[in-house]
Formats: sequence, C-alpha cells, structure tokens
Amino acid sequence: MIRNRRTRIVATLGPASCAPEMILTLARAGVDVFRLNFSHGSHDGHAEAFANVRAAEKAIDRPLGILADLQGPKLRLGLFADGGVSVVPGQAFRLDMDPKPGDATRVSMPHPEIFAAMKPGADLLIDDGKVRLAIKACGRDYCEAEVVSGARLSDRKGVTLKGALLAMPALTEKDRKDLAFALRLGVDWIALSFVQRPEDVAELRRLVEGRAAVLAKIEKRSALEQLEPILDLCDGLMVARGDLGVEMDPEDVPVAQKAILRAARRRGIPVIVATQMLESMTASPTPTRAEASDVANAVYEGADALMLSAESASGDYPLEAVSMMNRIMERVERDPLWPELIKAEHGAADDLDADILVAAARRAADTKTINCLVAYTATGGTAQRMARERPLQPVLALTPDPAVAHRLTLTWGLEARVAKEPDNLDAVTKAAVDMAVRLGMAQPGGRILIVGGTPFGSHGAANLLRMAHAPLRVRRPAGSRAG
Ligand code: PGA
Ligand code: MN
Repeated sequence: MIRNRRTRIVATLGPASCAPEMILTLARAGVDVFRLNFSHGSHDGHAEAFANVRAAEKAIDRPLGILADLQGPKLRLGLFADGGVSVVPGQAFRLDMDPKPGDATRVSMPHPEIFAAMKPGADLLIDDGKVRLAIKACGRDYCEAEVVSGARLSDRKGVTLKGALLAMPALTEKDRKDLAFALRLGVDWIALSFVQRPEDVAELRRLVEGRAAVLAKIEKRSALEQLEPILDLCDGLMVARGDLGVEMDPEDVPVAQKAILRAARRRGIPVIVATQMLESMTASPTPTRAEASDVANAVYEGADALMLSAESASGDYPLEAVSMMNRIMERVERDPLWPELIKAEHGAADDLDADILVAAARRAADTKTINCLVAYTATGGTAQRMARERPLQPVLALTPDPAVAHRLTLTWGLEARVAKEPDNLDAVTKAAVDMAVRLGMAQPGGRILIVGGTPFGSHGAANLLRMAHAPLRVRRPAGSRAG
C-alpha cells in the first residue's frame, strides 16, 4: 500500500482508538504516525498500543511511525477540599505553597519557579485560559490576585504565566521515567512539551542518545523567540496550537504557525500542525466549514503532517475524523493551484553535493515526464533533502535501516521502504525500479530518477543522479496507483 497524497496524518491514540482492529482500520483509512500521549494513560496501556501499531504495520506492509509525546514541565494547581470552587470576576483569590486543600479564597500551587517569575500586573491563565487572574501582589511563595474572567477552579488544572520564561528543568521526574520507558519500547520519535529554550532540547537529545528522533513542541512564546537555535538541535517541530493559544492572543497563533512552518521548511525538517484541527468531530460525524478550511490551509502551507488529538483519542468518531482529514488532504492536493502555493516557501538549496543533485532532480521532475524519484538514504538525510524541495512526484526512500524508515513516516511525500543497497550501479538501478514498479509508483516505460551515493552501501552523501526506465510490460499490483 502507498498513500495517494503527500501530506501526512498523525493520530493520537487513546481509549477510543487503541484496540488492535481500530488501529488497523485507522492505518488503512490514512494514519501515517500514531502518537502515544504520556500526559494520559499508563505504561501498560502505551505498551499495548505500541504492539498494536507494529502489528498493523505488518498487516498493511507499509511503515507506521510511533511518536511518544512527553508531558513536559506543565504547571498545575494543587487540590481543593471539594474538588473545585466557583469564582466570580472581581473577587480576590490567593495562590501559595501551603499544601492544605484549597477553598473559596485560596489554593496551593506547588511550583516555586512560577512565583519567582511573577510580577504585579501580569496575568495567570488557568485551565487553558478559561480562568484569568490578574496578579496584584506577590512574593517568593505566594500571590494575591483578582479574578478577571472565568467561573470555576478545580483540582490540578494547568497554570500558565503568560509569556514568562520559568527556571524549570526541561524534563520532570515523570518525563524521565516516561522517556526511558518509551525508548525501551522502541518508539521512532520523542516529542517534548513546553520547550522554553534550546538547552531544553539539548538535554532531551543527550538523554535520547540517538535512539529516536527528537521533536520540539512549540507552545511557549519563549520557544518561538528562539526558534533558530532550537532548530539547530531538533529533528522536527510541532506547532502546538492548544497551549500556544493560551500563551498568545488568538490572532497571533496563525501568524506563529506560518513562521514556524517557514522556519522548519527552510531547514527541511518535518513540521506538524496540531490541535483542534477537526475538534467538533469529537462529538459529530462531520466537521465545521472552518475546520475543513483550517486543515486545507495547512496543506496549502506545505506542512509535513497534521495531527488529530481528542478527535482520534477520545472522541465518538475517530474513523470519521481520520477519513475526513484524508479526504480534505487528497482534495487540496488535486487542486491545480496547490503546487504553486506550496512551492512559494521552499527553502534555498545549500552548497552541498547532495543539495545540488536534489535540486537538479527536482528541476527534472518539474518537466512532469518523471513518474517518481528514488532516494537511497542510509541516514534519511538525502530523502529529507528531496522532500524539502516539495517535488510533485512521490519519493521512494530506500534505506537499509528500519529505524530510518520509521522516522521518515512523518515527512512530506516520502514513501519509505527498507531495502539493502546493492553494491553496483546496475543492481542499485534495478532494485529501485523493481520497488517503484511493485508499489505502483512507476508506469510501464515510465522514467524513474534515482539519487544515490557511491561507494554503494556506504553512509556517504549523495553524489550520483541516474535516469532509469520501468520495463514496458509490467504486472501492476491490483488497486495501486502511479503518482
Ligand atoms: P498537547 O500538545 O495536546 O500535548 O497539549 C499540543 C498543543 O498544546 O497544541
Ligand atoms: Mn500542549
């Protein structure tokens, strides 16, 4: 099976979707990468979901990616005596470090780092911004605030000090345990929430030790302000609009989305647009017009992947949500305007042999006489460079390393397959042609453009561009389509 689209789908697993048959159904319907969300669920549950995805991958004969999403240093209120209290605008409310259960006038917030960063006049946002408090006075371990808006505070709700850079570690104790567990499972990507600074990503990288690719979730203003140094350290980005929308005003989020996409595309690393993409489909089998437009626009922006959260994890219509996202993506990618629009933001090629070859392949592909591109890629680098060029033809990424094939599932337009690289040019060509034909990516007699590197089978960078032709008479597998 190959996908008939370039943009990828990430679906979060949860109670609505983690059963084996459901994962297989969702994969068939269009999911390319499954997300294990460590903010919820147990290790046993994640291990089971992981095994179910790997089993589904065998059944569909196409690599499926698995992304473990770490909760990160999220700040939370403590507990109330009665689970929660009602508040009204104008009333006073106190936060402090006293572990005593909260009441109508105060509650604990066991994070000295947030008190240290507070200033009178700043805003505290609680429960995704549903409650807003204005800080009137504060000290090392308390603050006196006034309720500006909102109606209810309850146990362990998330707290954000708008725009602040907090002296928090990159990973909590829980994150470290979850990370070790996810790496033991063998996940392909590790995402870190609430990245504040480049050092946070460096710390994650150090702990991961190359066992997975590293993705920074951009959901803090401070991360947005240091995007370039963060990009130096990560393998992928997420536009985490849920928490970004708490830190910023609504009108700033789409602007940030554009900036993050542009920066990631210039580097040629995968970028995911996440949160509320088809939100109403948690409770309805069809999306709103605005949601359909939002999904379509992210495809027109050239995002590598779009993500479903509650829609696939806990909603009533996980399959409908995946199918709808798939339909919108396919529709946009059939629009004759789409190639022009995604091209607008493609990055300038670097002055490397591989980039020059890839740029040449892309120019050749633009003539529309090529069926598909093939990249022999030991580390995934050459395939990523090809995807950065956003060619119209599908790219077959052949790698000897199953871990690389798994990581490449997140990248725009790549069909990754595991295959050993033969040791001479004729065999390399034949293997590429055979696979492209078998997958239905090349038509009889069609042109196939191969980028590779000699010496064959080595980790060297690409230095070879070869034109090949599919045989005139080929047996096409049933149901497949050439790109
Ligand atoms: P979350 O991240 O779903 O883990 O909160 C995504 C976001 O904040 O948008
Ligand atoms: Mn988030």
